[in-house]
Amino acid sequence: MRLATVGGRAQLVRPAAASDESIGGRFDLAPTATTTDIATASDHRFGPSMEALLAEWDAFTSWAAAAGDIPSSGTYNAQSADPVVRHPTQVFAVGLNYRAHAAESGAALPEVPLVFTKFPSCIAPPFGSVGVFTPAVDWEVEVAVVVGRGGFRIPRDQAWDHLAGVTAAQDYSARDTQFASKSNPQFNLGKSYPGFLPLGPVLVTPDEFDDPNAIGLSCTVNGVLRQSSSTSDLIFSVPECVEYISGICELRPGDVILTGTPAGVGMGFSPPIYLSPGDEVVTRVDLVGEMRQRCVEAPA
Ligand code: ZN
Repeated sequence: MRLATVGGRAQLVRPAAASDESIGGRFDLAPTATTTDIATASDHRFGPSMEALLAEWDAFTSWAAAAGDIPSSGTYNAQSADPVVRHPTQVFAVGLNYRAHAAESGAALPEVPLVFTKFPSCIAPPFGSVGVFTPAVDWEVEVAVVVGRGGFRIPRDQAWDHLAGVTAAQDYSARDTQFASKSNPQFNLGKSYPGFLPLGPVLVTPDEFDDPNAIGLSCTVNGVLRQSSSTSDLIFSVPECVEYISGICELRPGDVILTGTPAGVGMGFSPPIYLSPGDEVVTRVDLVGEMRQRCVEAPA
């Protein structure tokens, strides 16, 4: 099942025909995908927002499984999608979770997941612009998971049962803000300028993946492939991150966990390569599709 938020309302997104091959990696470009407004289709039992839907995730999935053939009500257009969630109570991000990225960052491998936050005010739609607020804005493609059934102290072997699905995230990072103090980095602030967390365009439920612990992700900048990997290369897998984070913080429906970025960020080049107005960043995640941002001068 694929879900999107459009106009602030949760939508079920489906190919127009069961045989539609466009449901693969290029799903975001499928001209024939349709949407169904979940609040309307469920007679206002669920939604209308994704946050409200996620708060009743188990009831919703039971309803969706039993609902049979729900008619479509619109045409899907990823360019007009909202972020899949806009108001999570918590956004967690895991740093240095791919070995080659830890190496290019000049950092030691973490012994436990290195967790920071991106404040929810930086969440942005999957298509649009991103402000270049400083001379050192960098890209970081990430697979993100969204919490369905919340919980505290979730064991790793039950982690996927607590996750509603997978989406794409771009963890834009102002390295000069992040490392303004070399010895005491400001991860949270350096990664939270407005628009620094595009999220979407769809949420894909875990059952759609052949292996939800091996999800491909990539990032291109101006058409040049900069990052390409799979979550099978994570140091701490998604279930391990869920177990670790939920061992300390209660996870709530709609919360987001960014699982880390692979090697190939701008900071890793010598000299570093950072984003400038006019650049285009394309973020891709298997089955989720792609997001695009054009870099613009930041508002004064
Ligand atoms: Zn990151």
